[in-house]
Amino acid sequence: MFRPLKILIGTKCPPTRCCSAFVSRMRFSNLQYVNRLKEDDEACAAALQNAHIFLFHRLSPLLQRTEHRTLRPTALVCSGTEPQNHRTTEESVLIGCSEENQAQFCLDVGKNILNPGSSLSWWPETLNVPVLQDPSPYEPDLCFLLQGQALLRWNQTSGFCSTTGQPTHRNRAGSQRVCSSSGIIYYPKMSPVVIVLVSDGKRCLLGRQSSFPRGMYSALAGFCDMGETLEETLRREVAEEVGLEVHSVSYSSSQHWPFPHSSFMMAFHASVSPAHTQVSCQLEDARWFSLEEITSALQVKTPPRRGDPPVVWLPPKHAIGNRLITEWADRQRRSSLSDTTEEDV
Ligand SMILES: [Zn+2]
Repeated sequence: MFRPLKILIGTKCPPTRCCSAFVSRMRFSNLQYVNRLKEDDEACAAALQNAHIFLFHRLSPLLQRTEHRTLRPTALVCSGTEPQNHRTTEESVLIGCSEENQAQFCLDVGKNILNPGSSLSWWPETLNVPVLQDPSPYEPDLCFLLQGQALLRWNQTSGFCSTTGQPTHRNRAGSQRVCSSSGIIYYPKMSPVVIVLVSDGKRCLLGRQSSFPRGMYSALAGFCDMGETLEETLRREVAEEVGLEVHSVSYSSSQHWPFPHSSFMMAFHASVSPAHTQVSCQLEDARWFSLEEITSALQVKTPPRRGDPPVVWLPPKHAIGNRLITEWADRQRRSSLSDTTEEDV
């Protein structure tokens, strides 16, 4: 039976990654500290003695329901005086540190079921179910939880060297693994994915795969092939999935998406010629949407229930697909506004 340290508390933990002021001195010294812990096993083990450890059970995080009906992650607070369980020291992964340089780790308790207490529960299955809800039941700034889950999963599935088949051994932070035989160093992997919103100037193109929830449409997306540039992936995906030729491309933003196996999403806007918009679809469906249709789809917050009339809904706010669609809609509104103003003049 896994026995963690005694004190289990809910903690409002400052985010470790969602910080825009990276250049500020405080942040910079925090990042330096985290980097040092990744490189120095002894320093990392010492930091673990007084750390916050966020718990997972088979990759499901331990969460606490708050009075505002949101979910908050909970952490073990190590005091430095309690002896630590072998598993805590061997399997915790470093995810960052607080403003006060208190290290933050994640630990998967594996098969052992903890009975966490009345207000706490293991969120069932995976993180992605609540993440896909809009509004998300999570308190904001939970990217560190997604980062922790991705890192735990990578360590759980990277136990052997793909060249020699020998076991790999992780550093104390869990940020790299080394093959005991060949010395090959492995780092956590992400798969690059391009997500692209195609527009013909007046409408945007959305598609759906059969695996999507009923009624959901999103921007087109695909994995980068080995050796491809992002622009090549984008043009290939649009040609393959809807048979259209991309004319111009502009970058929007990026997002780590941990489901199911750590994708790195890079988001673009692309335009096609209004004279060539005939879609030949490889997806379950793909079609053009007007600004009015997009505006009303953005209002739909929950997927339609069985028996409800069919309705189009879009990825939730925190998904990068939603960001692309919202950016496009804002741009269309601005340009139609300036068209009207010009006509008035
Ligand atoms: Zn090896």
